[in-house]
Amino acid sequence: MAVEPRFLADATLGKLARWLRILGYDTRLGDASLNAAQLVRLARAEQRILLTRDSAVARRRGVRAVLIRSGQLEQQMAQLQDELGVSAVAPFTRCPVCNVELEAIPKDRAWGQVPPYVFCTQDEFRVCPNCDRFYWRGTHRQLMGERVAEWAQDERTEDGR
Ligand SMILES: [Zn+2]
Repeated sequence: MAVEPRFLADATLGKLARWLRILGYDTRLGDASLNAAQLVRLARAEQRILLTRDSAVARRRGVRAVLIRSGQLEQQMAQLQDELGVSAVAPFTRCPVCNVELEAIPKDRAWGQVPPYVFCTQDEFRVCPNCDRFYWRGTHRQLMGERVAEWAQDERTEDGR
């Protein structure tokens, strides 16, 4: 599998960062205290594409940056889909809160940690080693909503060829 792009989102793009994680992208959220030079340095050091709403930051040299044009999440996602081919590369693999990769756990470890209905109807559970939140496929599917779920569908179809 090709290495997917990794991202550094500026502090104004927290929602977008969560969604990129839901899709499976390693996305770091820049702290609000970072200035433009620090953001650029961090993106370069970690080889991340810098996502910013600030055109002055996007114009800086020595970093790959995308100027996010819209304040609306839907349009932001559409822009990244158009310009970078962002899609559901690996949904349900990354904690949307921490950006840490989820660990698969045996089903019995989820007992008492998830709603009983979920425990009875799901077989696959994952946990974030950082924040101890439990996830199952439904959580990410719910978070993703219809549009992104369609992308995930496309991905699966392609894999199945
Ligand atoms: Zn977490």
